[in-house]
Amino acid sequence: MSYEAVIGLEIHVQLNCPTKLFCDCANTATENANTHICPTCLWLPGASVQLSEDALEKAALTCLAVNAEIVSRSAFDQKVYYYPDLPKGYQLSQHHKPLAYGGWLDITGPDGKPNRLRIHHIHMEEDVAKLLHETDGQTRISLVDFNRAGAPLVEIVTEPDMRSGQDAMVFLRMLRTRIRYAKTAECSMESGTMRCDANISIRPAGSEAFFSKVEVKNMNSVKAVGSAIDYEIKRQQKLLDEGQPVLTHTRLWDPEKNITTPMRDKFAGPCVPDPSVADIRLDESRINALKESLPEMPAQKQARFVRQYGLTEEEASLMSAERDVADYFEAIADKGVNARIGAQWISGRLLPALKEKNHEISTTTLSADRAAELLALLEKEAVNAKQAREIMALMFESEKPASRIADEKGFKQITDIAALNALLDAALEENPDAVANLRAGKKQASGFIIGQAMQKSGGRANPKILSDLLSRKKFA
Ligand SMILES: [Zn+2]
Repeated sequence: MSYEAVIGLEIHVQLNCPTKLFCDCANTATENANTHICPTCLWLPGASVQLSEDALEKAALTCLAVNAEIVSRSAFDQKVYYYPDLPKGYQLSQHHKPLAYGGWLDITGPDGKPNRLRIHHIHMEEDVAKLLHETDGQTRISLVDFNRAGAPLVEIVTEPDMRSGQDAMVFLRMLRTRIRYAKTAECSMESGTMRCDANISIRPAGSEAFFSKVEVKNMNSVKAVGSAIDYEIKRQQKLLDEGQPVLTHTRLWDPEKNITTPMRDKFAGPCVPDPSVADIRLDESRINALKESLPEMPAQKQARFVRQYGLTEEEASLMSAERDVADYFEAIADKGVNARIGAQWISGRLLPALKEKNHEISTTTLSADRAAELLALLEKEAVNAKQAREIMALMFESEKPASRIADEKGFKQITDIAALNALLDAALEENPDAVANLRAGKKQASGFIIGQAMQKSGGRANPKILSDLLSRKKFA
């Protein structure tokens, strides 16, 4: 039988606020356990809670970045469960009245057609503490670190519109890009600032029914989400083909073995309205002001880069995929550098070099101003592509401007016509065979002569002008 998979995601995103959701403790990662804590985020009985305005604003911007509709009145509930990472016995979350409903992202499906993947709702919640499992001699112990407790999260719950691991990966990447554009979260699955659980069920192809779903957790990269979903689809198909039922339960992705294994479900209690946090009211003017503060999103930026800078669709797509890259590109283009040369250099040279060094484009020592100067040298052919690469490498090491490095390395290209003609004449004189070939109309000999002249110049001659000059010479 052929099956169809039905997949929905629950994505937790940690907002990049300076403080936690209900107290003023730092919302930053640190190695030292239990240092960013206070009575509120230790959840001591009677401690007061105060909703962070910054977290509310960033949560709302995150909703708007994915086309969700913010509601005018939302509220927190107590999501009751007991586990050592939540000693107070309930998590403050929005269940009955979430911050936003709807939302969608348009991805391109494998058939090249647009595919709208819908979001059901988005709510705010506090993070729970982190458990560390260790062994002390023969004894296995668990420690609790409260630094993460009370960190501001939004949870994005999608509709079950995805059909494959690929759909989920494309959705997650697009979601990450848009939230990074809004600058409300880092969204790194590797560092845990974005976490994704997948609900997966399968049904006979063409059916509209929903079958038992399995929740898969513990994926620590976008790629792992795709692999875990594809594995789980195959596992469920095999069960159904063998006439066995798929049971609703939770499984963990094992990235070492590339399989999912069953885990014990936590006890989940009811969700009851919380009396300690005041209801959130956002009137229309406040929501409109937030909408206006949202930056230009990737698709609009891509279209503008084509229009304004004459980039190809592909170049514009590469330059708009991350906001930091887009800002860097525009800074270079606005310095008067040929925009296409700038875009090609960023994607072909700069980004790979930064990746190799594990550096970020937003904090690199090779600022857009300095890069523009290097590209100007390249554009007016004062240096060639190979020399530009060497200069770039040295620019990472020091604050020296490109032209100074070019001078120090003796890189300035020879563009003087008389000097280039002299080089050509010398090469021709030393190679009578090549001259005979040129006379006989054998074009390949030109390349050889230009190579010889380049060598004589120590690689500094401008090959384009050399070739131009050689083509004008008569060999009668
Ligand atoms: Zn605190």
